[in-house]
Amino acid sequence: MRIVLLGAPGSGKGTQAKRLKVELGIAHISTGDLLRAAVKAGSPLGLKAKAVMEAGQLVSDDIVLGLLEERLARPDTSQGFILDGYPRNLAQAAALDALLVRLDQPLDAVVKLDVPDADIIERCKIRFEQEHRADDNPETVRKRLAVYAAQTAPVADFYAGRGLLTAIDGVGGIEVIGERLLAALRTRANA
Ligand code: ADP
Repeated sequence: MRIVLLGAPGSGKGTQAKRLKVELGIAHISTGDLLRAAVKAGSPLGLKAKAVMEAGQLVSDDIVLGLLEERLARPDTSQGFILDGYPRNLAQAAALDALLVRLDQPLDAVVKLDVPDADIIERCKIRFEQEHRADDNPETVRKRLAVYAAQTAPVADFYAGRGLLTAIDGVGGIEVIGERLLAALRTRANA
């Protein structure tokens, strides 16, 4: 199955994507992880991305698309993939579309995790205290939420227009949300 997971920063995409990877035996592709690896490696691309990420802004579409193409070429994607953190704006949605047409690998489902902003702010605060991710400081989280509302929310409408979108309630325990997600995907697979 080829799946896009949508949701605000801190909505649980990464957590759920890791579970789905195991349950469905498909690749988990997080553009945030790919970018953090580039930052850690200190590559020229990583150096460029670092400041942008720490400001809570989006890294340029070209850079992220390049990383994604490289990742999709790896053999573990042959059974499918979960995209976590991509696409994040309409230009990326169009680029993904073109790429998947070229690869002859259309999407099967897009699932959006709905979580109220107040919960997001709380979750990121806890993650900041535990993991010290620079972009989880409360001020940057507010910035990322604004970027999400302005640039990423329209991506959900794009997929809704194509009949691919299912929104699920992303508030609750990890297991419960995982079950909701699987149920949504089963419905899609049988449709
Ligand atoms: P979250 O979903 O919690 O915001 P991610 O790990 O997905 O966390 O992303 C962290 C940061 O990496 C983003 O705030 C952004 O700067 C950058 N990033 C990740 N994916 C993309 C993307 N598709 N396009 C542009 N920037 C991205």
